[in-house]
Amino acid sequence: MNRRELLRAGGLGVVGLGLSACGGRAGLGPGPPGTRFLPPVEASWDRVIRTTVGLRPHRRSGFRVEAERFDDRTVVHNYGHGGAGMSLSWGTASLAADLAIRHESRQAAVIGCGVAGLTAARQLQRRGFEVTIYAKAVPPDTTSNMSWASFTPTSGLVEIGREAPGWRRQFRAAAEIGYHQLQLLVGRGYGVSWIDTYTFSDQVRPRREDQGGSALLPADLQTGRVVLQPGQHPFPARFATRRPALRIEPSIYLDALVRDFLTFGGNVVIRAFDRPADFGSLEETLLVNCTGLGARALLGDDEMEPIKGQLTLLVPQGEIDYSTLGGIPARGAGGFIHMMPRSDGIALGGTNERGEWSLEPNEEARRRVVEEHIALFRAMRSSPGAARVAASVTPDPVPTLESFFGLQS
Ligand SMILES: Cc1cc2nc3c(=O)[nH]c(=O)nc-3n(C[C@H](O)[C@H](O)[C@H](O)COP(=O)(O)OP(=O)(O)OC[C@H]3O[C@@H](n4cnc5c(N)ncnc54)[C@H](O)[C@@H]3O)c2cc1C
Repeated sequence: MNRRELLRAGGLGVVGLGLSACGGRAGLGPGPPGTRFLPPVEASWDRVIRTTVGLRPHRRSGFRVEAERFDDRTVVHNYGHGGAGMSLSWGTASLAADLAIRHESRQAAVIGCGVAGLTAARQLQRRGFEVTIYAKAVPPDTTSNMSWASFTPTSGLVEIGREAPGWRRQFRAAAEIGYHQLQLLVGRGYGVSWIDTYTFSDQVRPRREDQGGSALLPADLQTGRVVLQPGQHPFPARFATRRPALRIEPSIYLDALVRDFLTFGGNVVIRAFDRPADFGSLEETLLVNCTGLGARALLGDDEMEPIKGQLTLLVPQGEIDYSTLGGIPARGAGGFIHMMPRSDGIALGGTNERGEWSLEPNEEARRRVVEEHIALFRAMRSSPGAARVAASVTPDPVPTLESFFGLQS
C-alpha cells in the first residue's frame, strides 16, 4: 500500500506513516497523538508453561433449569452450560433459586462446586437459605477452572431448532442477569475486568443482523465496536475490529466465590453421588443439581456430551492489556484461535472437539494454536505501524450482543 492509498483507507491512515521512524519495539515511547501502543505477545515455544484440558458440558436442547421430584426430595436442575457457563451461571443460578424458593425448606444442598454450583449456592444464600455444597471435586480441579473465560453467552450452548420449549425465555433472562452480575464484580477482587478484544479480517463482513441472524439475545445487552482501517492498527490483516469484552480469570474468580460462600456460613463436603437414589441419604429435602457433564452418568441424561477444549499458557506478560480472536486471515488454514492475557499466563486457545472424552492434550491442536499465535505476533512486531493502534475512532453504529454468536471460547 502506498502513501496515497493509506491516507484514503481511513481518517487515521497517517498513523502508520508517522511511525516509520519508531520501528519495531523502539515504538515504546510516546507515539503520534491519537494512538496507543499495543505490545506484541512474546509467543514462542520456550515460553509455554502448561497446557490444560476441559470438557465443556454441552446439552443439545440447551441448559436444563427445572424442578423434578425424586421420592420425597425436590431436585432443581441447573446444568448443561456448554462453553457459556462462566457467562450465564449467575443467571441460571437465579432462575434455579427462584424455583427453590417455592419449596418450604430453607436448607438446601447444592451438588457440584464448579461455577454453576458456586453461583447457585450464593443466589440461595442471598435469598436466606442455609446451604451445603456436596461435590466430587472443588476448585482448582473443576472444568470451570479450565475455562478461557470471556463473556461468550452462546458458545457451544445449544443446537438452534432443538431448544426445549420455553428455553429461549430462560436463556434471555440468564444472559441478562449474568451480564449485569459480572459487571458488578469488576475491580473488586473477583478477577473480572473489561478488556479490548481485536478480531481481524481482510474483508468487511456483513453484520449478523444483516444476515438475518437470530434475535436470541435481548437488545439492551450491547457493547460498542469500532472497525479499524488499514494503517490504523498493527495487525497482519486489512481490517481489525475492537470491542470491549468482559474477562474472567477463573482461578481468582472461583476462589473468590468459594470465599464468599464460606463467609456467608456455607459448608463444603467432598462427596460423589452415583445415582439419584443417593439423594435420599442427604438430610436436606431440597437439592440443586449443578453437576455439569456429571449429570450424564448421574441422571442418565444422554443429551449431555463433552466439547473438549484446551488452553496452552505462556509466561504472563503484565503489559498485555488486549485480547485477540483469530489468526492471520491470509493463513486461513490455521483455523480459529484466540489469546487472552491473565495474571496466571497468556492463555492461547481455539479447540472444540465434540464428543471427545479424553483429558489428554491433543498435541496436533496444541501445535496449531501455538504456531498460529507465533506467526500472528511475529507479523505484528514487524508491522510498519510499530504496534500502535488508533486510540479512538468513530464507533461503527452496529453492535448488539448478538455479535457474540458463534464466538467460541
Ligand atoms: C477450554 C474452555 C474454554 C471455555 N471458555 C469459556 C468462556 O470463554 N466463557 C464461558 O462462559 N464459558 C467458557 N467455558 C465453559 C465453562 O467452563 C463451563 O460452561 C462451566 O465451567 C460449567 O460449569 P459447571 O459448574 O456446570 O461444571 P463443572 O465446573 O464441571 O463443575 C461440576 C461440579 O459437579 C461435580 N460433580 C459432577 N458429577 C458429580 C457427582 N456425580 N457427584 C458429586 N459431584 C459431582 C464436580 O466435581 C464439580 O464440582 C470454557 C470451557 C473450556 C473447557
